[in-house]
Amino acid sequence: MTTTVRSATQGIDYSQFEGAIGLNWYDVDPNLQFQVQRLVGAEDRAWTEDRLRRMGALIGGPVAARAEVTDKNPPRLERYDRNGNEVNTIVHHPSALETKRDLWESGFISLRSAEDVVQRGRPIPPMVGTAFNYLLSQAETGMLCSVGMTSSLAGVVERHAPAEVRERFLPHLRTTDFSRAWDGAMFMTEIRGGSDLAASETRASWDGRRWLLNGAKWFCSNVDARVILTLARPDGAPEGLRGLALFLVPSHLADGSPNGIHVKRVKDKLGTRAVPTAEIDFVDAEAYLLAGERSDPSAATDGRGLRRMMEMVNDSRFGVAVMALGIMRRSFLEAAIYAAHRTAFGRLLQDLPLMRETLVTMVVELEAAAALAFETSEAAARVRQGDEWRKLSRILVPLLKFRVTRRGLETASQALEVFGGNGYIENWPMARQLRDAQCHTIWEGTENIIVLDVQRAIVREGAHEALFARVDRSIQATEHPLLTPAARLLEDGLQGVREALAYLATASPEVAQLQARRFAGYMADVAQLAALLDEAAFELASTGSARKAAIARIFADTHLSERPLRGITSGDRRALDLFDSLVRYQPLPRELVD
Ligand SMILES: Cc1cc2nc3c(=O)[nH]c(=O)nc-3n(C[C@H](O)[C@H](O)[C@H](O)COP(=O)(O)OP(=O)(O)OC[C@H]3O[C@@H](n4cnc5c(N)ncnc54)[C@H](O)[C@@H]3O)c2cc1C
Repeated sequence: MTTTVRSATQGIDYSQFEGAIGLNWYDVDPNLQFQVQRLVGAEDRAWTEDRLRRMGALIGGPVAARAEVTDKNPPRLERYDRNGNEVNTIVHHPSALETKRDLWESGFISLRSAEDVVQRGRPIPPMVGTAFNYLLSQAETGMLCSVGMTSSLAGVVERHAPAEVRERFLPHLRTTDFSRAWDGAMFMTEIRGGSDLAASETRASWDGRRWLLNGAKWFCSNVDARVILTLARPDGAPEGLRGLALFLVPSHLADGSPNGIHVKRVKDKLGTRAVPTAEIDFVDAEAYLLAGERSDPSAATDGRGLRRMMEMVNDSRFGVAVMALGIMRRSFLEAAIYAAHRTAFGRLLQDLPLMRETLVTMVVELEAAAALAFETSEAAARVRQGDEWRKLSRILVPLLKFRVTRRGLETASQALEVFGGNGYIENWPMARQLRDAQCHTIWEGTENIIVLDVQRAIVREGAHEALFARVDRSIQATEHPLLTPAARLLEDGLQGVREALAYLATASPEVAQLQARRFAGYMADVAQLAALLDEAAFELASTGSARKAAIARIFADTHLSERPLRGITSGDRRALDLFDSLVRYQPLPRELVD
């Protein structure tokens, strides 16, 4: 398949495809193949390529086809059985269940598990899990929500649950045997607010033997998960965030009977319909405290519950950013294919200057987003290797979520328009992508909350220093003359970010908040360009192609340079002249880039 979809000199010929569904999404994605070359050591490369190629066939094929069916047949609630007993059953269409089974059995869920590491004899390269999520997101981000929470929940259970809870739940959370598998969910948001968790009203009481939860949660995705993490305020705990404790709530008790979780309604959502999002009541729901080995009332008021929950939230924020990245890639691929077939005014769309610019803009933003995403995944995988990595990951996760979720929405909207009126119609591929993309700016923290989190990471943890040092390393390492102009813009950008930060440090809190989005955008531009420059240097050294150098330069010119008269008189013809290289991934001779 690889050889038929891409030739080394001709690149990808989109005219041979009718649409994205049915293709192997690894084979048609030269940028993902490039990430493997760059990020995976020689000893793991064949294994990685094999896993990603198998996943690309599965997800681009049956999973992607079923996603269209699931969207039109979303999960529904059967609250009572025919005898009137409350059963709270979520009925999924077979298309969703088949996909879930395929994902479990393919090792998607257990990829990062200790078992897999032991079998291989060394850790899985960090980019592999990110690449899996990126591939699945191109098909169905709702499904990734459903399956993706399981592995991060398992990590929280491993770190914070007492031994008996670990022993009961972890084997089910990490198995590849679908019949024994339990998936995870996270219920935090209440009707009074998702951003302001301090307002949470769910109570936890200790009855001398066990914890019982009572309260209502307003947004509960993957509501029929077997294992739920939630926040509740133990009796006697103070108001505010420090009074919240972290609990694990099983959907079923040890004897197999249902726990006190009552599903009131499955929400009628704009998108991400594969995953059921519901409103629930906890009524004397049995729960386990996650605060180390102790479960008694005093352990519940150690003030660290939210911090433990945030470990999963941070994982999920990264996951949501990758969902948006997947939507960017699917949008670009569908648009490139459509533009290679459809004609207007006697020309293929892809040959019209404005359309060339649209497709080039999409691919530049896609690769800038991917560069930051894979950078973040490498940093996140190293958080236990030292404070520098921890800080880098701490700042990159919210920056990535902020940047890529907004770009995902913009790219889906642009791609939809490439299809003209067809784009707006539900039996073409883009309408659902646009509906799904809107979720990601909200899920796991809205854009405003995320940019305030960037500020928190700076003020409380000094996390920006790790990013500045990393950007500086890229500038210092840039030796190739082709990269010098972009490196100069990066240097100026870094200096600008430092100056803006110094100003914000002395500004009033109101002004600092007012500027939070602009500041996060500035930092994200700098971080993305640094990651692109590293990629460009690698490509020049390893293959001699200057394609990534051109991507980095266009990104730098677009986001970090002041262009007189908005660039109109600059004579910039790159979208026209470099189209085949940028959009069709042909190698770019360095003499064609100035
Ligand atoms: C499809 C879907 C699935 C979801 N699944 C889950 C789930 O499984 N589990 C879960 O816990 N939650 C879930 N959520 C909830 C989601 O995390 C929240 O909707 C989100 O965090 C925002 O909270 P809210 O809806 O209460 O909005 P609010 O907190 O009321 O915010 C309203 C607006 O005010 C803004 N705002 C709030 N505070 C500030 C501030 N300090 N400065 C500036 N602006 C501010 C927000 O940015 C937003 O624009 C889901 C949401 C959706 C849409």
